[in-house]
Amino acid sequence: MKISIVYSEKCLGYGSWHVEGPERVKKAQEVLKERSYAFLTPKPASEEDLLKVHEDEYVWNVKKGLVEDGDTPAYDNIFEYARFAAGGAIMAAKIKGFSLLRPPGHHAGSCGRALGSYTRGFCYFNNMAVAVRRLGKQTLILDIDGHHGNGTQEIFLGDEKVTYVSLHRHPNFPGTGAVSEGNCLNFPLWADCGDEAYLKTLDEALSKVDLNGVEVVAVSAGFDTHVGDLASLGLTEKGYGGIGKRIASLNRPTFFVLEGGYNGEHVGRDIDEILRNFKKHSQ
Ligand SMILES: [Zn+2]
Repeated sequence: MKISIVYSEKCLGYGSWHVEGPERVKKAQEVLKERSYAFLTPKPASEEDLLKVHEDEYVWNVKKGLVEDGDTPAYDNIFEYARFAAGGAIMAAKIKGFSLLRPPGHHAGSCGRALGSYTRGFCYFNNMAVAVRRLGKQTLILDIDGHHGNGTQEIFLGDEKVTYVSLHRHPNFPGTGAVSEGNCLNFPLWADCGDEAYLKTLDEALSKVDLNGVEVVAVSAGFDTHVGDLASLGLTEKGYGGIGKRIASLNRPTFFVLEGGYNGEHVGRDIDEILRNFKKHSQ
């Protein structure tokens, strides 16, 4: 059985002019459909779930559309799109699947912009954080997006239930993640470092995690590390296969939530590669 994909066409309804546009997810879904994945439709996250992560004033501002910044537009009905993506993450956590929805989430902190970033980097609600809080288990969040998840770090810094591990390109947006802090382990990498250096760093990162007590692995799955994408670390499909294999070696119930990745064709193939290798090497 393949890992199920959480998806709905509803997430395609906004922002066709933006780099974080519907095509990236639409094309990825088409690739995965061709490769016989099953798709499940989520429900939107409740306000109660959002408030486990975000301040009520911020949730209100998203609802009222008062969240425009240079990267992250206040689209009509963005509150509904954003809470739908958060609901997708909740469902992925429940079924141990992959949430293929937009907008992404890992730059969104409890009040929006996180750790001094200028913008929210295409994010509204922190989908992963909402899912992890709702689950309430001891969790390792592995963030493989090419950007540092400053929102996720801000939300979980000092939280005894969570270990956050991020590999990302540095220096780059949002400028954070140069060093580790407490339960947030950061591994900055140079532009286009390539599969080999990346996987070596991932091995080192995972060797630093105390897996005792970890009940769930939650993967913030961004694909903008792919060669030529927005935060390229020069990864190829083969590199994503290596990532899947290493996630399987952690031997925990695991779910995945889409973050970045702006070439839909690549995103679809990379997701397949990661999930196939994860499945193949899982016990
Ligand atoms: Zn990114």
